[in-house]
Amino acid sequence: MARQKQAIFRFYAELNDFLPKEKRQRDFVYHFWGNPAVKDAIEALGVPHPEVDLILVNQKSVDFNYRLQHGDRVAVYPVFELLDIGAVTHLRPKPLRRPKFILDCNLGKLTRKLRMLGFDCLYQNDYSDQQIVDMALNQKRIILTRDIGLLKNKAVTHGYWVRSTNPAQQLNEVLNYFDLFNQIQPFTRCLDCNGLIEEVPKKEIEEQLPARVRQTFNQFYRCQQCGKVYWQGSHYDRMLESIAKLRQRS
Ligand SMILES: [Zn+2]
Repeated sequence: MARQKQAIFRFYAELNDFLPKEKRQRDFVYHFWGNPAVKDAIEALGVPHPEVDLILVNQKSVDFNYRLQHGDRVAVYPVFELLDIGAVTHLRPKPLRRPKFILDCNLGKLTRKLRMLGFDCLYQNDYSDQQIVDMALNQKRIILTRDIGLLKNKAVTHGYWVRSTNPAQQLNEVLNYFDLFNQIQPFTRCLDCNGLIEEVPKKEIEEQLPARVRQTFNQFYRCQQCGKVYWQGSHYDRMLESIAKLRQRS
């Protein structure tokens, strides 16, 4: 008769966000039958695999296909920029250089904030889960989502579960998690359509401007895709201020 087996698991840092209280920041016993892939065990415990960057079994690094054995000690780590863990197997292929994102339907406000800082973000409130996964893979985009289930899709390689429900905090999370502070390029992307924007002479667009704006501002930008006109108003100044603060803290 088959015997139930057990392994000791421990999850590190923000991976604990996915676990129930009694399993956070500590060793706990995981019961299993047969020899499941360690990836399946991790997801069964609630942690989506794209958040995992390193797995140590009995202090040796393994990949997602490692078959769990009775008595194993499993340590699971998220992306660690600062921790020197020596010669180990990271599960991610290479980090995506200039990251591009695709966001789920809950993250419309975050989309606009990221675009304001110049990040390439696809968003439509009617994308299906399958469309999001397909576009992420085809266009090498990182999925940002409030839906843990979406990250558990087997095909997903790069994704992040946005913890906060507050758009300003969400922005902070994403900038920190992907270490994006040095890649901010304000006024390069349209907030509405994700198209690239370029500076435009005032006289070309003067007629479209509200009187107050015509009097106050001299620098303007226009989306090459949808034609929307932008200027650096107070909202933009407040945003730059808050980013400067975030940067100081990080
Ligand atoms: Zn546009």
